[in-house]
Amino acid sequence: MRYIVGIDVGGTNVVVGVVAEDGSEAVGVVSEPTLPEQGPDAVVERIVKLARASMAKAKGREIAGVGIGSPGPLDTKSGVVLLTPNLGWTNMPLRDRIAQALDLPATLDNDANCAIFGEWWRGAARGVDHVVGLTIGTGIGGGIILGGKIYHGASDVAGELGHMTINANGRRCKCGNDGCLEAYASGPAIAARAVEGIEAGADTTLPQYVRGDLSKLTAQVIYEAANDGDPYALEVVRETAVLLGAGVANIVNIFNPQVVVICGGVTLAGDKLFVPLISEVKRRAFKPAVDVCRIVPGSLPGTAGVYGAAAVFIQRTWGQV
Ligand SMILES: [Zn+2]
Repeated sequence: MRYIVGIDVGGTNVVVGVVAEDGSEAVGVVSEPTLPEQGPDAVVERIVKLARASMAKAKGREIAGVGIGSPGPLDTKSGVVLLTPNLGWTNMPLRDRIAQALDLPATLDNDANCAIFGEWWRGAARGVDHVVGLTIGTGIGGGIILGGKIYHGASDVAGELGHMTINANGRRCKCGNDGCLEAYASGPAIAARAVEGIEAGADTTLPQYVRGDLSKLTAQVIYEAANDGDPYALEVVRETAVLLGAGVANIVNIFNPQVVVICGGVTLAGDKLFVPLISEVKRRAFKPAVDVCRIVPGSLPGTAGVYGAAAVFIQRTWGQV
């Protein structure tokens, strides 16, 4: 059995694991903060150090290559990260730098593509041909798997589902567009909407969760308060479900997937989010598309990107995954 080092470079953490080519296990999983403010060289060094630590833990296994997932936009053919606002990189030859340092062949793909590919390969979206997914955290990433392959489009931009416009005159998004899904339903956007409501006089216990400091309010705190029964927190979660439901209904109508998988911290909201989200999709999307589509939370928290990055290497190098 051959093994592949899967590397998931996130804006907050780098996660690395050694993945069996049949996907049966990921061993030696290690993680450290990315610390992008230290500059690209320091981040590459940290990634290489983590990869070596992971391979040391997986001692005795034959390592055939490295799959890397990174925020984009990036060029999958040249292995260059073109521009990452979160990491502050421009034209960074990430694939070749890691390949040279580890003396192993490597592949590069978008981090969200990798996470959704991982969920398709070994997670909540196993066993079907067509999967579309969202990764909801600081931003909203997306991945499109059609016929068991990541769909990249003409210039590797396909799958930027967080930047679909859901309100033509809506909230300003970091990408420069107005009304993106991400501007409403990313973790920070959920918190920002709640803060606006509180400042407008909403009756809620939410400030008590952050000792009155609303700058500390996060989406996680809102889910916690919703689970504790705070009516306003519940309303924010329901609104989030409606906004996400609009986005997922677009996905369902456009791609007609068998599974829409939703990954990230937002899944902590559980049924309070998923029940109204699914009913919103039913209300909006075409019935024959809704009838064949499962909308599920991801089942590989923390390692979907590692599995998926390895699967990208396997598929591009050996053809089959
Ligand atoms: Zn945007």
